[in-house]
Amino acid sequence: SASSGMKFVASVLDRQLPPRIGVPEIAFLGRSNVGKSSLLNRLSSFSRKQAGFNDEARVGKTPGATASVNLYAFYNKKEKPLLGFVDLPGFGYAKLSKDIKESVQQTAERYLDTRRELVLGILLVDIRRVPTEDDRIVLAALYDMGVPIVVVATKVDKISSNSLERQLLDIRNGLGLPEGQPLCVSSVTGEGTKQLWNVIMEGAEI
Ligand code: GDP
Repeated sequence: SASSGMKFVASVLDRQLPPRIGVPEIAFLGRSNVGKSSLLNRLSSFSRKQAGFNDEARVGKTPGATASVNLYAFYNKKEKPLLGFVDLPGFGYAKLSKDIKESVQQTAERYLDTRRELVLGILLVDIRRVPTEDDRIVLAALYDMGVPIVVVATKVDKISSNSLERQLLDIRNGLGLPEGQPLCVSSVTGEGTKQLWNVIMEGAEI
């Protein structure tokens, strides 16, 4: 049916921002391959189960997606949008040409700086990697702009429980995070996704 589920709303290029649809928005950030689309899909199917939604659009990698801002929305069965997920690909990380990179940076910054609907930023980092200077710059920029932020470590199924604690500490210390962060998720096993969904719902006050 076309009446419920997660829907793709818009992908905008050339310094535009997505249309406002009057619902709280969550922005997802992180370097490419960090597992963002997998997580968005996992959250989508998770929310569908929880709220009785039908799944619709899968979050995919469309051509040009690295240079665009993508908005997805969860609709309830009455076609009422409830929540928006905004994918800010490449912000702070883009391996792109200089021109495109500047355009992406400016668009993402403008979005983060001005969007009244934005309630939470989610910065994804790979559990297996030591945080980079890029991660620190993105995080500092979000703090500067007053965006509430949660750091999420992806792909936790990929490391042994022995090295998990060590990696968590490296990420927490490397990014100066509070106790309890990063949250750990796996889009393969689903670990941590319910917790993250709850954090999102709290942030959006839904
Ligand atoms: P994006 O570029 O950030 O959107 O990253 P993708 O979601 O496309 O994931 C990049 C790669 O990592 C793909 O090969 C995924 O299958 C893999 N991947 C993503 N999330 C997980 C995870 O939780 N566990 C494992 N084992 N692999 C994952």
